[in-house]
Amino acid sequence: MPTSVRQPDVRRVYLETFGCQMNVLDSQLVSSQLRAMGYQFVDDWKIADVVLYNTCSVREHAEQKVWSRVGEVGQHKKQRPDLVLGLIGCMAERDGVGMIRRYPQIDLLCGPGELDKLPMLIDNVVKTDVPFRGRPSQVQTALQGNTHRRSATLAAAEDQLELLDLSRSFSPDEVSGAAYVRITRGCNKFCTYCVVPFTRGAEVHRPPDHIVDECRRLVEAGTQEITLLGQTVNHYHYDHGAAVTVDGMQQPQVGAAVKNKGNSFGITLGAVADSAFGRGAAGRRITSFADLLARIHDEVPDLQRLRFVTSFPRDFGDDILQVMAERPRICRYLHLPAQSGSNRVLERMNRGYTVEQYLELIDRIRASLPEVTLAGDVICGFPTETEVDHQATCRLLERVRYKNCFVFKYSPRPGTTAAQRFTDDVPDEVKRRRNNELLAVQSRVSQSVHNEYVGKRVRVFVESISQRARKEQQWGDGATEFQRVELGWEPPTTQLTGRTDGDLIVIFEGSPSWIGSIHEVLVERAAPLTLFGRLAEPVATV
Ligand code: SF4
Repeated sequence: MPTSVRQPDVRRVYLETFGCQMNVLDSQLVSSQLRAMGYQFVDDWKIADVVLYNTCSVREHAEQKVWSRVGEVGQHKKQRPDLVLGLIGCMAERDGVGMIRRYPQIDLLCGPGELDKLPMLIDNVVKTDVPFRGRPSQVQTALQGNTHRRSATLAAAEDQLELLDLSRSFSPDEVSGAAYVRITRGCNKFCTYCVVPFTRGAEVHRPPDHIVDECRRLVEAGTQEITLLGQTVNHYHYDHGAAVTVDGMQQPQVGAAVKNKGNSFGITLGAVADSAFGRGAAGRRITSFADLLARIHDEVPDLQRLRFVTSFPRDFGDDILQVMAERPRICRYLHLPAQSGSNRVLERMNRGYTVEQYLELIDRIRASLPEVTLAGDVICGFPTETEVDHQATCRLLERVRYKNCFVFKYSPRPGTTAAQRFTDDVPDEVKRRRNNELLAVQSRVSQSVHNEYVGKRVRVFVESISQRARKEQQWGDGATEFQRVELGWEPPTTQLTGRTDGDLIVIFEGSPSWIGSIHEVLVERAAPLTLFGRLAEPVATV
């Protein structure tokens, strides 16, 4: 954290997050950093001195929401010209200073690769006299730039952004029962529809020692469930550099957890390190994703659950499956987006696999982990998608049997290959219909997957009071633990919501004091997205 930044005069910050889990984690880290500098966080933007929107460019809908918020704050700034408005995250990175001409109420822009500089940017805005703010030359910016690509070989320890992750707070006030831990930043895949490689830059992998240490400290502070995050999380590999023996010779070393037998599809870098042709050959020591999972599981024995998202199908090797099968506290849950059931569309998306390869991977996963649950993503209405392609995607949903699948209507994202090269030629009403048909297929599949749990006992990590109970108790959807405690009202039991280790949502009656801990629930009823049950009786022992 920069120490030269003076103690702020402004103290109240409102931070709203749009988009993915990576943004949620970025917001948590930014909050920790600003809190440590004396800023306080408020839930109402109208009483804030600094309003920050952590933005997402992946979907058009999320962008529209941000513009509407920026418009509202612009109106409010007529009465509060000293209010600081900042856009951070992917929209800031992608649109850059161009957006300032349209929205002069914006005082600062900070891309996702520069968040460690945010306190300094806020401080610079505050030091700028109010009449000068809003002028393009005065807007504070820290943007990586679309063309600036960080090198994947850059040791993350030397990367300034690593300091943001390392500055995470382990104070019991800020640590909750479930936490995200980043293991990679950026993405190298360049799927043609996706803006992430342009906004978050090239893949950089964090050092495994930093990750294991972060997990250990989170668990010591009370965390029970950790989700490892990466845009293509299973592509994680950390190159430690060449190991040299005492006589100066390079010493061959490979990932330690398990040696992959190798597949034509899904070969992983633990295996590549052992091969004659791959990156990591010639004696370089590699920590593969399978190695990392094994290390966290084995070196943090009090961690109850370890998850990871999002997996990229092409990089999913048998070494990961073997580590998962041998280690019970790694959740049997995979988010493995297919995106389409048509090979022609997959090729235009540049996904790098065929439907047959994807299904072969699903079969291998189910053979190794029979109790696994799967989640997916599909895009409908990608340029040139025909009715035949669409039906193929419907069949894929039925064949894979995801417990849930996110269905998105394609919209061209500025700067992507698809937006530049392909005409958005599927009419919106056709996209809408296909979207609804996919949702209907998935709803039937989800109901059937959930039905299989009725009558079974499941272990549930309790996350919160259910939305229905919140409304009935008039806390409102946005009620925080802090507000609940402030209100001083604790019902003896209420409706709780939590997740199984397979990420199935479970609703049951229990004490609010159970939030953040794991309880066994007997499932009595199933809906497409939710299981309903009651606390299971303890099993009698003789
Ligand atoms: S894998 Fe493809 S969809 Fe996922 S972040 Fe990378 S480019 Fe985007």
